[in-house]
This record gives sequence, C-alpha cells and structure tokens, in this order.
Amino acid sequence: MLGEIQKTLKKYFGYTSFKKGQEKIISSILQQQDTLAIMPTGGGKSICYQLPALLLPGVTLVISPLISLMKDQVDALNNLGIASTFINSALSQREFEDRMYLASKGQYKLIYIAPERLESERFLDLLRNLSVSLIAIDEAHCVSHWGHDFRPSYLSITPFIDRLSHRPIIAAFTATATTDVKQDIVSLLALRSPGVFVTGFDRENLTFTVRKGVNKSDFITDYLSTHKNQSGIIYAATRKEVDKLHEYLNYKGFSAGKYHAGLSDLERNEMQEAFIYDNVDVIVATNAFGMGIDKSNVRYVIHFNMPKNMESYYQEAGRAGRDGEQGECILLYGAADLHIQKFLIEQTLLSPERKSNDYQKLQSMVGYCHTPQCLRKYILEYFGETDVTETCENCGNCNDETELTDITIDAQKIFSCIVRMKEQYGINLVASVLKGSNIKRIRQLRFNELSTYGIMSESSVNEITDLINLLIVEEYLYVTEGQYPVVRIHHKAVQVLKGNETVMQKLQKKKEQVKEDSGLFESLRTLRKEMAEAENLPPYIIFHDRTLREMSMHCPTDRQSMLAINGLGEAKFEKYGQTFIEHIQKYVDEHDITPAAVTSAGSTDNPNKDKAEKIPSHMITYELYQEGKTLKEMAEEREMTSITIQNHLVRCAQEGYEIDWNGFIPAEYEKTIVQTIEQIGAERLKPIKDALPDEINYFAIRAVMCKYGF
Ligand code: ADP
Repeated sequence: MLGEIQKTLKKYFGYTSFKKGQEKIISSILQQQDTLAIMPTGGGKSICYQLPALLLPGVTLVISPLISLMKDQVDALNNLGIASTFINSALSQREFEDRMYLASKGQYKLIYIAPERLESERFLDLLRNLSVSLIAIDEAHCVSHWGHDFRPSYLSITPFIDRLSHRPIIAAFTATATTDVKQDIVSLLALRSPGVFVTGFDRENLTFTVRKGVNKSDFITDYLSTHKNQSGIIYAATRKEVDKLHEYLNYKGFSAGKYHAGLSDLERNEMQEAFIYDNVDVIVATNAFGMGIDKSNVRYVIHFNMPKNMESYYQEAGRAGRDGEQGECILLYGAADLHIQKFLIEQTLLSPERKSNDYQKLQSMVGYCHTPQCLRKYILEYFGETDVTETCENCGNCNDETELTDITIDAQKIFSCIVRMKEQYGINLVASVLKGSNIKRIRQLRFNELSTYGIMSESSVNEITDLINLLIVEEYLYVTEGQYPVVRIHHKAVQVLKGNETVMQKLQKKKEQVKEDSGLFESLRTLRKEMAEAENLPPYIIFHDRTLREMSMHCPTDRQSMLAINGLGEAKFEKYGQTFIEHIQKYVDEHDITPAAVTSAGSTDNPNKDKAEKIPSHMITYELYQEGKTLKEMAEEREMTSITIQNHLVRCAQEGYEIDWNGFIPAEYEKTIVQTIEQIGAERLKPIKDALPDEINYFAIRAVMCKYGF
C-alpha cells in the first residue's frame, strides 16, 4: 500500500516526499478510519484527502465553505489529471443536473460541495445513487461556536451523513487546535473513534516580525519598493483603513488592489482575480479576504493593524509561503490597534461569556506584540505545543536587527510639553506645538507662549507624531478613550522628566536589497503567465513558484530531469513539459549561464538524490567521455539532451578535469571564433553566435572559450 501511495503522490502531484503528517493521515483514511487532521495553513491538508480519493473505489465528497475556493481547487485538480467537479449555488439547474448525471456514471473522483447543499432533499436523493467512499470536511472548525468562523450549515453535516444508506469514512481537517474546537469537531461531526493527528504547527519557511511604533505607511512603501514583483497581502482592521492605504499605495505608483465587504460582489471578484492571476502585486484587505484564496506564491503578509486573536493572525499570516518558499509575516503594532479591537468586541451582540473569551484571546494577541522572547516559540506554545526550542533564529526577536538609540532628550521635550498643556489635548496639537506651527488654535490657547513651543522645530509634525505614538506603545504615555482622546503621561514618564531614566528607541538597521531572482526565473514566470492567460487559469495552478525556481536552478532540458523537479507530475509534464523544455533550452543557448548551475535536475525531494550526491551527474558524463563516446552517444545513454551533456563537460573542465576541446571545434573556424570573441567580448554567447557563420554551433563557441580561457 505504501508503495502505491508514494507512486500516486509522484504521478499526480509531482512530489516525491510527504510533508509532515501527511503520510499518517492518508494511511489512517485508507484504513477506513474516521480521521481528524489538524495542520497549519499551508501544511498540505488537501493532498491528505485528494490522494485517498484516487485510491478509494467510489467518489469523495469534499465539504468546503467557500465557493471561490472550490473553483480553484477543482481547476487545479483537473489540471493534475484528476477528474473532479463542484456543485454549489453558482450553477444553473442545467449544470447541476449535468454534473449529477456524470457523477452517477462515475466520472468524478472528487466532488466539492458547499455545506448548504446538504440541506437539499433533492441532492440527497441524487446522492443515493452514488457510491461515496469518503467525506472530507475542510475547515472543520466552522462547526464550532468556539472557532472564529462559525457556519451554522456545518451543523447539517451529521444529519446528512446519518441519512446515507452506507456510512463513508469521515475525515475532518482544520488549522485550529484549541481543545474546545477539537472536542466540538469530534462530537458535532460524530466522528467514530477517530485517528487524531496534530502535526507540528511550525511553518519553518515563514519569518515572523513585530514592528512597534513605526510610521506604518512609510514602512509599507519602503517594503514594497524592495519587494517589487512579489505577491503580498496587507491586512488592515477596517474598511476605511483599507481604502485609505489602497489609495495611498496607488498614488505612490504601486500595483495594488483592495478587498473588503463594502465592495460589490463584482468588484470583490475582480480584485481577487487580479491578485490570483498576478495582475496586481499586492492586495490591501480586511480579514474578509483570504479564506477563498489558495494562491501559493504569496511572499509576504503584512498586518497593518493587530488582529483580534492569535488564531486569526496565524491563519492570515500563514497565507504566505504556501509553496514552501520563503515567506515573511510582519505585524505593525500601533497604539490605536488595541482600542480598535476592544471597540469591535464591544460592538458585537455576544453573550458576556463569549465576550470575555474574546477579551482573553485579545490579551494573548497583545502579548505576542510585546513579548521579548522568540515569536515562533510564542506562537507554537499558544497552539499547545510543548518542548519548543527557546530560539528559532528566524524571527524578529531572535534575529534582532535593531540598534538602540537614546531618545531621552526628545522624550523629555514631549513629556514636558504635554504637562505644560495640562494633559488636555490630542496628539496632533501636542505635535504642532512642539513643531512651532503657526496655527490659529495654538495662538488662541496661547500655547505659542509656552517654553516648549517650537523646541522640536527641526522635525516634521509627522515625525513628532510617530515619536509620540512610539512613547504610547512603550507605555510612557496613554491616550484616553472617548470622542476626544487626549494624551497623558504615565508615572514612568515622570522618572524620565526627572532625569532618573533614559528612553531608548529600537531602530531597524537598513536591510540589504532583496536578492533579485534570476533572469531565467523571471522569463519562466512570464511564460507561465502567458500559458495561464491562454487557459484562463491562475498562474500558480500551472506551476508553483518553487517549481519554476527549481527549473531555473537546474535547467532541465529533457523528460527525465524535468520530472525530477518538485511539483511536476506526469499530467503536468504532458501538458506543459515540452514548452518549458524548449523555453529553457533556448534560454540556455542564448545566455551565458554559469555552467555550474546547469546540472541534471535533482530537486531536494529527488529519490536519486543520494546517488547523485555520491557521484555528481557531470562526473558520470565524464566517465562516458573518457570512454571515447560522442556527444550524441552520451546524450542517448544518459537520456539527457546534448545541451546538458555539453554543460557537464564545461563544468568538468572548470573543475580541472581534462577535456580535449579540439574534438568540438571545427579547425577551419577556430581562428575566426577567437577573433570574434576578442572583438565582441565573452559576456554573452548570442551576439558571438550571430556574428559567426550559421554552421558554427554554440558548443563550438563555448569550447573555444574554455580552450583559450576567455
Ligand atoms: P492547506 O490546505 O493545509 O493550507 P494546501 O493543501 O493548500 O495546504 O497545501 C499547501 C501547499 O503545499 C500547496 O502548494 C501544495 O501543493 C503543497 N504541498 C502539499 N503537499 C506537498 C508535498 N508532499 N510536498 C511538497 N509540497 C506539497
């Protein structure tokens, strides 16, 4: 059985190894056991039911809360060669009937349905004709009041199952691990002695950082400038904040979309599509965005405001790096964030018990923003993991890249000004007095006569406001609640005024520019986008970024090395393999790619990896070369293209192995090739090739370069 599971994983999904927990979960389901799997967002839940669906005799019903997500998942499955469909309210009666008919003929391995559908008698009738092997319940926490996305229709799942003539295997999936939710899932979904699997909650490829008291808009513009062409999400707490930031980013020339519940369905759809199809880089959104998003190449998630609890935070931040590539999660904490969240809790009509539960959760969220310890440890322990290492070396607190600056004098100026203004005014007026602004209100209140008037004239009002906000976050100051909040000082500030304490500000060291992706990666991205547009599919459904990056590293130019790339299974190879091979081959021909990078593909999950590590691929080629084989013979024997073989030989020569280049250089042209390289330079191959007669191939040029040491 295990062999079959592995084979199916590679054949359909293109992966050669499982992510944590997947294998056990799949085995449990295939042993006909009810199963509850708790994995973080991006942990790889889908394959845990999609793969069993392929091996079980009947159909698998997937209950999923969001219609938009269903379409994407079904598109992705069909693209992998797995027949599937979805049934939801977006279909016409005709489409519904057609799909049910095809289902009754056994045409689908997976059918995605919205939970509301289970309440339909008609659907139940039609379903009776099907042999359902497995019911997979995605986002199973929606069944629980204690979760953060309760959906009443999830409660109709159990009565629905009870009415089926044959009880299928039930598998529930969620990223929420709190005890209340876990218990609710088991009891409300009536799981029978389920195998419960909680995989680690760690997402190693994600970096976590909290930034306090920074000017958020400046931070975002700086960040976006150094992360161009990368997909990212910026979450803000309110619609108003989303609108404002979106407008600002567009004004600054960034390619940004927005998403919140105040937009029409059409606008929301358009924005979502633009993001999924890589037509905008960044989307500014409220938490309404994301549950229906399966986009794997989100490189960063920035929270413009602190969210309401750790569950929401980890779920939202977890939308970064689902493809396993590096992802960055940054939370910008500001003094007002806590007020917003408290206000939102107060607005709800929840029972006092639930409100107090929400406040407790909010408190843990605030704790995350202030903890000096490892952020990953904080997260993992919150989700109930034990024996977590003290430091991860991959979060903002472990890799503290800040420098401390003494800002005592500025802090004293601000505190003293607030005291002189009798602690009766808001942040803006205080900042304006310190700046020395010539405004009517200041003159009316005669604050221009204060000794603190204009003592920070060298700073802008915005800079002073930022500093006041920082002092609020650090609890030297606080802002009163109510319609006209005023800024006041805490006792801690008095000590600073008396000169008994200093105030230090953490400043982020300037980060190096992010490393650019290689030219080949970018050109593969463009090719992917063209193909995606032609098929009307999101680009990541064709290939994940990670798959493209591996291609750009290993430059596979034949079937075997292409299939060794992570995320490339047989169906994908049949559909896209040749086009990508040709593209890569052309690129390799036209550019002077460092030959060392052009080895036969060996992804990290390649089963031949061990072997390949013992004898590097280019050395196997070298052995054949020493046996006197021609390029063509070597290529045939190794089932590689001659380009790959040529690259191997160049690499061998660079490593000091002897190659007789004369065998590859047409003697009559040798001098001409040398002269042309001397004239044009050896930076790029294509101009040299263009300047020479057609019959001289690229390899002859490279051979001359190697022989003469260009
Ligand atoms: P979840 O539903 O848990 O958030 P997904 O099922 O969407 O996660 O999977 C997250 C990403 O991980 C997807 O891009 C998926 O293709 C990838 N993935 C899943 N299983 C594997 C695996 N065994 N090896 C490599 N990548 C995988």
